[in-house]
Amino acid sequence: MSDTPAAQRAAEMLRFDQQHLLHPYASMTSPLPNQLVRSASGVELTLDDGRILIDGMSSWWSVLHGYNHPVLNQALVTQIGKMSHVMFGGLTHEPAIELARKLLAICPEGLDKVFFSDSGSVAVEVAMKMAVQYWQALGQGRKSRMLTLRRGYHGDTFAAMSVCDPVTGMHGLFGDTLQQQFFADAPTCRFAEPWNPADIDSLRQQLQQHSDSIAAVILEPVVQGAGGMFFYSPEYLREARRLCDAFDVLLIADEIATGFGRTGKLFACEHAGISPDILCVGKALTGGYMTLAATLTTNRVAQGISGNGGVFMHGPTFMANPLACAVACASLDLLLASPWQARVQSIATQLSEELSPCAALPQVADVRVLGGIGVVELREPVVMARIQSAFVAEGVWIRPFGRLVYVMPPYIISNTQLRRLTDAIVRVVTNLGG
Ligand code: PLP
Repeated sequence: MSDTPAAQRAAEMLRFDQQHLLHPYASMTSPLPNQLVRSASGVELTLDDGRILIDGMSSWWSVLHGYNHPVLNQALVTQIGKMSHVMFGGLTHEPAIELARKLLAICPEGLDKVFFSDSGSVAVEVAMKMAVQYWQALGQGRKSRMLTLRRGYHGDTFAAMSVCDPVTGMHGLFGDTLQQQFFADAPTCRFAEPWNPADIDSLRQQLQQHSDSIAAVILEPVVQGAGGMFFYSPEYLREARRLCDAFDVLLIADEIATGFGRTGKLFACEHAGISPDILCVGKALTGGYMTLAATLTTNRVAQGISGNGGVFMHGPTFMANPLACAVACASLDLLLASPWQARVQSIATQLSEELSPCAALPQVADVRVLGGIGVVELREPVVMARIQSAFVAEGVWIRPFGRLVYVMPPYIISNTQLRRLTDAIVRVVTNLGG
């Protein structure tokens, strides 16, 4: 088997990949091995050697309806027959118009303007620029910095990195090249716990001391994702909204990870019944098919920036790419026509039940579930090479980071497939102890 032409070709590709391709957060000279994927369909990834893995990652929170979905495929085929791209300066098109219409119809109320960009990190940059330009245009140019939460994650570009957690984020590496921002303590009050008013003290103190130089508070509503997979009380978010109003600071909600149903609500802001001044969405926007993000804002912010003739200073080459917009429209239609709430709820119930045995293991610090996200937090960081191959040997695709083993499967996963994921987690985590 290993010396068939196909196997030789695969081995050669993997060698080339190892030598020349850079992967996320990986060594540039001695990276860990990668799996060669031949195709993906539904909730299954087929590796080049024919092995099939159940996908627990939704390709980093983005795949909602499964891979190779006929409706999404068709949306792309139809659009490509018309045009795959045109510049967005001076031109516009139906896929972008329809997508903006759909987004404005479902997003938290008060948002009225949509800026399409290429990725989540860029959507965050755009949001920060909107906030800074807003205060600049109002003659309050001193309000140019961000206040954010420790344990947050907002992306890998420079401005986005500056508002990631200062310890676990990349501040240490990039030092002075990052803009200095203000940080409040991370929320500690958990999602379903009674609210502790002291939890918001740190945010309030930062605003009391620095609001005259703060353009916006930026946070991930309810779920702090890549910074720690922590689910916090919606009351924190409600209080943060109140404080932003009281201290005349904009609120940017980064729903790039949480948007489109993942937490059990279409947007995590809905858990608190609040609307931000600026909203970022991405990842699942296209159902995981293509890279596209959007930054939405209010008439107030738009009027502030452009009321006196100002223009908003951003304009990527592939802004509102028609293919990405067309597949996003199809994905939103599929989502809204599906019983997504019941599916996410059923994933949550099953995850809670089936991951619970992990809580009794001495190597486990915590097990938590919210919507379609299940987390097993270990006491020690994982050894990636070891745990990754253990999961692949179990026939599942689960990629932990730090001390976190987690899943966020596509909403269409069956009970049996989800059981495969949870069984694998229980077995692999149990074996870490012995
Ligand atoms: N914001 C949040 C909350 C995220 O989780 C991520 C990615 O994980 C980003 C921003 C960055 O998005 P992208 O990787 O598309 O640049």
